[in-house]
Amino acid sequence: MNPHIWTGLFKLGAGVYRWRDVALGFGSKPWLRKYLAQVTLYSLLKGSEKSLLLCLNKSTGELAQVDVPLDYDYAEEILRRAERVNAHVDAGTLPERIPFDDSVCPRCPFYALCLPSHIGRAPIAFLEDDEVEWLLEERAHHAEDALAYRKLDERVKAWAKARDEERMTVGRWLIVKRPFARGVRVDVSAIGAESPETSG
Ligand code: SF4
Repeated sequence: MNPHIWTGLFKLGAGVYRWRDVALGFGSKPWLRKYLAQVTLYSLLKGSEKSLLLCLNKSTGELAQVDVPLDYDYAEEILRRAERVNAHVDAGTLPERIPFDDSVCPRCPFYALCLPSHIGRAPIAFLEDDEVEWLLEERAHHAEDALAYRKLDERVKAWAKARDEERMTVGRWLIVKRPFARGVRVDVSAIGAESPETSG
């Protein structure tokens, strides 16, 4: 796990946790929610009353163990969802879109095709700007080089803040501006990526 996520979930550090003590944290992000579904199905298939999640902090190597009791109601819900998916696959149909979800849709691999309605939100501006696209690609390329990354990030951020649009795409990148108490935060994510990179 990303160290920020790991330390956010396991506030007491390495050790053994009960699921109910960390359930809120695991429910807070869409990419964390899938773990419960995964281990629930494993427990069901193995006929086990309990599963263990071993979560590694990939910066420090610390391990946290989470004991997850099998929740039959939740297992039933997942199976029903799988049945709906299989029915659509058999029929060659697609399910309805979910209502637009800021924490899910921008990371969905179908985002650019689906364009779910943004109720009450400004439409996405599809921009073509070779220079900004180059900056975004270079920024991603220098993710491990703090100095170069910061300079490129600042240029992208300044460009985005100077524009009127609230959300825009350039190349394969989605850029979203969010007002907060001390100014505007700029989130940059690759369309279809699992989690956004955020810059202040
Ligand atoms: S972007 Fe993806 S998750 Fe969002 S509504 Fe479309 S298909 Fe569903």
